[in-house]
Amino acid sequence: SQERKNKKIGSAKLTFDEIGGQDSAKQELREALDFMVRHEEIKKFGIRPIKGILLTGPPGTGKTLMAKAAAQYTNAVFVAASGSEFVEMYVGVGASRIRDLFKDARTRAAKEKKENAVIFIDEIDVVGGKREGGQQREYDQTLNQLLTEMDGIYTSETPRILLIAATNRKEMLDSALLRPGRFDRHIQVDLPDKKGRCHILELHAKNKPLAGEVNLEKVAEESYGFSGAQLESVMNEAAIYAMRDQLSEISQHHLSMAIDKVMMGEKTDRQSTE
Ligand code: ATP
Repeated sequence: SQERKNKKIGSAKLTFDEIGGQDSAKQELREALDFMVRHEEIKKFGIRPIKGILLTGPPGTGKTLMAKAAAQYTNAVFVAASGSEFVEMYVGVGASRIRDLFKDARTRAAKEKKENAVIFIDEIDVVGGKREGGQQREYDQTLNQLLTEMDGIYTSETPRILLIAATNRKEMLDSALLRPGRFDRHIQVDLPDKKGRCHILELHAKNKPLAGEVNLEKVAEESYGFSGAQLESVMNEAAIYAMRDQLSEISQHHLSMAIDKVMMGEKTDRQSTE
């Protein structure tokens, strides 16, 4: 059901209102997107259009949600891929997949009669890592293709393409990607603070029966350091506990148990990978 929930919140209709916390990241992103929306004006001023936005921050903080909301905000088609999809044994396959991704965005925009396209690449560090020569030759081709595609984005053409990439290892990225005209806008998407956690919990509680006694602010306090994805899990696990107890509502106790479970789960995950 986690998957179903993710799909629901990840539907094409996702807006910034459905992203909890992240007030400053959302604001910065919206400001950058306004450049895309107000393309006529920026042309008059001779301002260089934004081609790439890099979202950085820990896993599960809502970077993918931000990219989807960006597409919705600009009335764009949304095309997504993960950096790991471009890593292939055979030289040239990664590069041709990059080409296909851009082609796909243009084709879909034409078909759906949209003027804008947002291309989202998660884990950009996998393809955009620093080039060091030698064994990385296959990656080089893929990265070069990405740079070529970015340089080939012209705002006078529709669809206007915006590339949004996400990474939690910004320092690993090749400097060519960060140059002006490429990913020159960086937005930090951090772990939520208490207010942000409370907001995220509220969003994920919307379709769930909560007992009147439930105090989400207290839950937010107890879940210090949790990401949005972990908070989504907390709500989900709490609902499972309530169902298991054959109750019609989720209690504060269920939520506390769910916090422990998510925290423990993270610990055992970490131990098993160590
Ligand atoms: P990763 O880097 O691991 O891909 P991410 O930062 O892209 O993570 P998302 O995929 O956007 O994270 O989030 C995963 C899920 O966690 C979302 O589908 C949503 O259910 C929940 N979530 C994460 N952040 C938020 C948030 N700020 N508000 C509401 N839900 C959130």
